[in-house]
Amino acid sequence: MTSIKEPLIKAKDNNFAATETLPGRDRCVHIVGAGPVGLLLTALLQSMDGVSVRLYEKRPTYTRTRMVKLASYLVADSLESYQADHIDGESIAAIFDDEELEQGLTFRQSIPSDLMSLLRNWVQGFCPLNTIEQSLSSLIDERGSKRVQRIATVMKAEEAVAILEPGDFLIDCSGSNSLLRDRLAEGSATGQANANTLNIQLEYAVVITFLYGQPYLCNEYCKYNKNVGNLKYKFIPAVDRIAYDGDISHVTGIVNISAAEYEAMPPKFDGEWLRSHFPELTQSMDRFIDKIKEETPGEILGDLEVMRIPLNLYRARNATSRRWQGAGRNDHPFARSPVFLAGDSAIGSPYFQSISMGFECAMFLAGLIVQRDLPLGEMLDRYELYIYKQWLRVYMRSKMIKHNKDLFESLDDTPALLNLLHIY
Ligand SMILES: Cc1cc2nc3c(=O)[nH]c(=O)nc-3n(C[C@H](O)[C@H](O)[C@H](O)COP(=O)(O)OP(=O)(O)OC[C@H]3O[C@@H](n4cnc5c(N)ncnc54)[C@H](O)[C@@H]3O)c2cc1C
Repeated sequence: MTSIKEPLIKAKDNNFAATETLPGRDRCVHIVGAGPVGLLLTALLQSMDGVSVRLYEKRPTYTRTRMVKLASYLVADSLESYQADHIDGESIAAIFDDEELEQGLTFRQSIPSDLMSLLRNWVQGFCPLNTIEQSLSSLIDERGSKRVQRIATVMKAEEAVAILEPGDFLIDCSGSNSLLRDRLAEGSATGQANANTLNIQLEYAVVITFLYGQPYLCNEYCKYNKNVGNLKYKFIPAVDRIAYDGDISHVTGIVNISAAEYEAMPPKFDGEWLRSHFPELTQSMDRFIDKIKEETPGEILGDLEVMRIPLNLYRARNATSRRWQGAGRNDHPFARSPVFLAGDSAIGSPYFQSISMGFECAMFLAGLIVQRDLPLGEMLDRYELYIYKQWLRVYMRSKMIKHNKDLFESLDDTPALLNLLHIY
């Protein structure tokens, strides 16, 4: 049996040996996608000697205002603080060796202070996604380094393949609809939908966000109490996702919906649309909000913002071009130049923690790229193994949260609750 500490397949170093960066030449790294992960990776590589970056992005401006929270392990300085999260602290210890974790902590210490202070700030609480993107983008520009070239384009997969010169690296940070993920499957299936994607559909949900004109505190008890009477649709606010701006609370939560309901909704809409098309769901929200008002008299400011999302847990079966290496396809650029997936391109997890995981993968990858004497085959193997371990971690965490959520939703229905419990 293959141990998780061993790569499932091993890259052969021979092909890549010919493509190692020529002495005296910068290692050219092409990054497709300047979302949070592509930007962080760029900012990390920008400060490293011997690396130049070409960053490709299709959006002209950063407009995503959703509030996001980053995990405190991103700025951890000890094994204890790295494993402080009560849901996945034990999984981390089960999956990673202390030595590997120590290496990650050591890398954090090498992160330039301008970047580290941004990370420290973001793990404190909440902030809009576009603030993270804009701050990283400005930091890259303000450093004034010629090592980063930014290119505004909608990159096509064929173009990404064609730009690769021998010795170049290509990193796909293009998000959940990854440009290259399914192209990394070698053979006749390459490029076909899901050729390289393992997808676990956990549920469909609407994400509902609103502003409340009073401080509003929430915990598991009040999640339950405020949903009493909501038999079908329960609004589950993410406790950590309530942000305070003076007396104003930003509340975000999710409501489970069916696949048919998901199909019947536009991607984004407001409370009025919800009211006219989904009255029962609206009543559940009204009941929940009325109970907030009983506790802390206040009003909803503005309207609800609603977004439908599939909560998918997925991973790229190959997070690098390693498969192409041993495939006897030396004519293909992927067999000669290393390709990596990072961020949502590589792994996607619901329940909102993906940026942090993408940031960690970016840190690990930057730590590999800077090692000029590391054979490329070994680099691919190490990255694959690392991503696989991160996948195990996030898989365990997501399944646990989904299970807890299912139990929570059945608390008033004892037979349904017992049906979900598997003891021995
Ligand atoms: C409602 C909601 C709430 C969330 N809350 C949180 C949270 O609290 N915490 C958290 O950690 N995560 C959260 N997430 C998830 C988080 O937003 C994503 O994990 C994160 O944005 C992924 O970052 P990324 O850089 O990998 O990909 P993206 O953010 O998807 O960035 C990809 C970038 O690539 C660009 N791009 C794509 N294709 C091309 C192309 N062909 N050519 C050029 N450019 C291209 C895109 O324009 C984009 O800028 C939330 C997600 C949702 C939907």
